[in-house]
Amino acid sequence: MSKPQANSKEPSGKKIQAIRGMNDLLPDQSPLWQYFEGQMRALMGRYGYDEIRTPIVEQTALFKRSIGEVTDIVEKEMYTFEDRNGDSLTLRPEGTASCVRAAMEHGLLHNQTQRLWYQGPMFRHERPQKGRYRQFHQVGVETFGLEGPDIDAELILLSARLWKQLGLFEHVTLELNSLGSPEARAAYRDTLVAYFEQHMEVLDEDSRRRLATNPLRILDAKNPDMAPMLADAPRLMDHLDAESKEHFERLTAILDEAGIAYTINPQLVRGLDYYSRTVFEWTTTALGSQGTVCAGGRYDGLVEQLGGKPVPAVGFAMGIERLILLLDTLDLVPDEARGDLDVYLLPMSEATESAALLLGERLREAHPELRVQLHCGGGSFKSRIKKADKSGARLALLLGEDELAENTVTLKFLREEREQQRLDQDALADTLASLLAGQA
Ligand code: ATP
Ligand code: MG
Repeated sequence: MSKPQANSKEPSGKKIQAIRGMNDLLPDQSPLWQYFEGQMRALMGRYGYDEIRTPIVEQTALFKRSIGEVTDIVEKEMYTFEDRNGDSLTLRPEGTASCVRAAMEHGLLHNQTQRLWYQGPMFRHERPQKGRYRQFHQVGVETFGLEGPDIDAELILLSARLWKQLGLFEHVTLELNSLGSPEARAAYRDTLVAYFEQHMEVLDEDSRRRLATNPLRILDAKNPDMAPMLADAPRLMDHLDAESKEHFERLTAILDEAGIAYTINPQLVRGLDYYSRTVFEWTTTALGSQGTVCAGGRYDGLVEQLGGKPVPAVGFAMGIERLILLLDTLDLVPDEARGDLDVYLLPMSEATESAALLLGERLREAHPELRVQLHCGGGSFKSRIKKADKSGARLALLLGEDELAENTVTLKFLREEREQQRLDQDALADTLASLLAGQA
């Protein structure tokens, strides 16, 4: 038998680190994420949307066929690999394609409408920077079987309500455009290419490459040298088919009536191939160049493109990291999103440790919403008090041998100048409740 050998590929002592652009969510940030996710989940319920969860990995062909071969995502951002059977798989770069695949596969689109939402990690091989990561998280909404502008408007109102809930409404702006029908877009494409061909000297390399493959995307180029030429480009809005024009006018009329301000941005084309008619983005100026926090639109052709019967559809996705960053940057994190403890429960010595543990259980029984942490791990009196101070809790409950004998507990205020109090254990739950409700 051969001797077991050390793995020679592993350099000894070198620490293994996370993959670039893929972040750990640490305990100091997770309460804020939970707060955001809680707001989101509640909102979806209020509008009657149902959650769908799909696998993180799909067949590569799904994304190629839906997002489009000549998009940034498919050309250069996907995490694609062969599994052990030799099948080409891809870590999902976005949620819409998976959602459509699942809805088709399980017959959710047969003569019915669907309003779905999802959330989870997405993967794109991009250059990591603030607000742009290789694993990031989206919350998305997809609706199926509804073709009128009322549902487009609902999605915008739903997102506007989220901004209001989070205190972000004053910090974001809505941009809208219509991409029309595929036929109108094809005709416009020729007009646009003709225009660009007259301005070849201004087009950068990337845009020249796109001229043959995806000329509409040139409108979205960020190169400032091209800006004046792009501003004068023919507008898709002026080449819409009659139905799309009416659809768009009805959408803007609803938004006007609802008091939602928007700007029409003729250069808004979105990076994915499957859109038609309405496209929109919510952007902020508070995050530098990663300013789009929510983006979506209508994709009436996608279900058919993936082999189903035509089903109208519209949806959006928002980037959770950017929204969290925005809440942090604008100092809009409410107390409830800080995850602070209410009570640090402190046995003063070993003799009262088990009594403290039971007291903690009684408190949690009486007040399920109370956040109580028990001091564990012993230590000197001084180090116990230090732990209580560092816990971030508002209150400490001290249980010494005297207290134990009297069936009382000492209440200490950790964040306010206030006299400590000796309380009867049986009255404790009520006292805490009124204290934390701000009534005492
Ligand atoms: P961008 O123009 O910023 O690259 P995109 O058009 O590629 O965005 P979508 O595919 O529409 O973005 O995704 C919707 C939202 O998801 C974006 O508006 C953004 O908030 C977020 N998002 C997209 N890519 C990333 C990423 N790499 N890291 C973090 N968030 C992202
Ligand atoms: Mg992108």
